[in-house]
Amino acid sequence: CGIVGYIGESQAAPILLDGLSKLEYRGYDSAGVAVYSEDKILMAKSRGRLKVLKELTHDGEMLQGTVGIGHTRWATHGSPSDVNAHPHFNREESIVVVHNGIIENYLKLKKKLEKKGYVFVSETDTEVIAHLLDYYYKGNPLEAVTKIMHRMEGSYALGIIFKEHPTELYAVRKDSPLIVGKTKDGHILASDVPAVLKYTRDVVFIENEEIVRMTKEDMEFYTVDEEPIQKATTHIEWDV
Ligand code: GLU
Repeated sequence: CGIVGYIGESQAAPILLDGLSKLEYRGYDSAGVAVYSEDKILMAKSRGRLKVLKELTHDGEMLQGTVGIGHTRWATHGSPSDVNAHPHFNREESIVVVHNGIIENYLKLKKKLEKKGYVFVSETDTEVIAHLLDYYYKGNPLEAVTKIMHRMEGSYALGIIFKEHPTELYAVRKDSPLIVGKTKDGHILASDVPAVLKYTRDVVFIENEEIVRMTKEDMEFYTVDEEPIQKATTHIEWDV
């Protein structure tokens, strides 16, 4: 399983598909991508190999846009299926998330959200993240991300796009790996180094409960209390 994300000047989908292919060694049963495209978030996902996703999206051509997230899934909650594959949306399809890990208290959160009127379409623990973000989002993505971190128990590496903030890409981790890096024309995130080596050799290893806000130009790092932090870059010498 793995996550990837890209924001910059290039088309996102081909970079996401390529990155996911470099994470295949981690194992998966489904794959998906979401790309912000002219006021809409487009999504394609499917059970099966990346080949299926590549065919579905015509090698990414169906998803035109320069910010996106991708996922390979190793099902833990809900069978491997098209519906359970990531990314997952909130109801308005204005927030989209990919997730590696397990939300241990998802059932409790799901019941609370259902009481508030949220409707779940998948059997995954991940879908609570999309609805929880929707619940806490009041116009400030960073605030929504920190709020859900206070509510979730378990492990997660997340990539998140907010339709109202299409020039930003958010990522966060706890007990699931996450790295980010600067490419020639933007920024990239992934679960592991092989997915980004084609685009950069200078990576930042994200620690537990650190949040990244990426734009085309910048990367900013925050604690769960929204305090800005400085992070060191590591130069990768080895090859895959
Ligand atoms: N727990 C999530 C699911 O079953 C994510 C699994 C993964 O890490 O790929 O959908």
